Amino acid sequence: MNINQNTHHEKLIDKFNRHINYVRISVTDRCDFRCTYCMSEKMQFVPRAQLLTLEEIALVARAFTELGVEKIRITGGEPLIRKNIMQLFENIGKLPKLKELTTTTNGSHLLALAKPLQDAGVERINISLDSLDPEKFRKITRIGNLKNVLSGIDKALSLDFKKLKINSVILKNRNHNEVVDLVRFAINRGIDISFIEEMPLGLIDEHNRNETYYSSDLIKNDLEHEYELVSSTISTGGPSRYYKIIGTDTKVGFISPHSHNFCSQCNRVRLTAEGQLLLCLGQEHSVSLKKIIRAFPGDIEKLKNSIRKAMEIKPKGHEFDLTEKPIIFRHMNVTGG
Ligand code: SAM
Ligand code: SF4
Repeated sequence: MNINQNTHHEKLIDKFNRHINYVRISVTDRCDFRCTYCMSEKMQFVPRAQLLTLEEIALVARAFTELGVEKIRITGGEPLIRKNIMQLFENIGKLPKLKELTTTTNGSHLLALAKPLQDAGVERINISLDSLDPEKFRKITRIGNLKNVLSGIDKALSLDFKKLKINSVILKNRNHNEVVDLVRFAINRGIDISFIEEMPLGLIDEHNRNETYYSSDLIKNDLEHEYELVSSTISTGGPSRYYKIIGTDTKVGFISPHSHNFCSQCNRVRLTAEGQLLLCLGQEHSVSLKKIIRAFPGDIEKLKNSIRKAMEIKPKGHEFDLTEKPIIFRHMNVTGG
């Protein structure tokens, strides 16, 4: 049998008949912020020697595209602080079968890197922004500087990306009263915004997640005092529901792992910075691709075989429950948001 012919139009299909065409790759668990919902104040990061090298990450990315994956998102931690990260963007940007290369960033390095990202083929960027008040921004991120992020966003806006989107995690009594302001910020710039419910990933020390939970339905209700929202049919195959804001070019998305289950449509898997392939954000099922790469350096067929086999253990869905201690001990910065 000629494997090459067979794999020409290969697709990754899991046990529940879901087509996996999207991979999120975390390139580092480190970050220049310490957002209270994402990390504890004193984080232990993975020793650098345990991370996949940029070359190894590029090989995994290539393997996935040869298996039919068309969309790759580079994330972290903060992806733009990894040394020589632009090399990776450039390499992945050249993969012939890739249709979309995107990244998620806290925006702190966008002023310098927005243009290089665009040159490398990145067409869409998600930028996290939880507050427009410098003090509150500092409190939520512990060390972030709002001004840097805003100038990064301005830079990106000046460059005509296909799509820029704001991501905001909303916490009760932290920033829930800013949802209208954040939407206005997006409308004034002609970009979209998504609100994310806090997920119980990893142990954090700043707040009790039961007390800060602010549901998508509450946010939507707050917005409807100010704006008219109309359900949009757009689907990214992910957990977002989108609404058009009448009279504007802006769409608002709600990512609601608690209040709306999205697993039956799941089209994605994640690679951690250590080379662990996670089959589900909310479950522990995983396979070490690092082991394969290090045992058989450069052998892309071995890598592809492990990826194909991993699809058999992709679970049916997550089991998030706010009333329990986190069942997932990974922090979001490890998982790759
Ligand atoms: N550092 C980059 C950033 O902040 O955009 C990329 C990585 S970050 C882990 C990706 C996204 O996950 C961000 O939008 C962040 O707000 C979100 N996030 C982090 N921890 C979360 C949690 N516990 N629940 C929900 N979203 C979370
Ligand atoms: Fe860093 Fe992003 Fe986590 Fe904030 S959400 S601490 S910016 S990785």
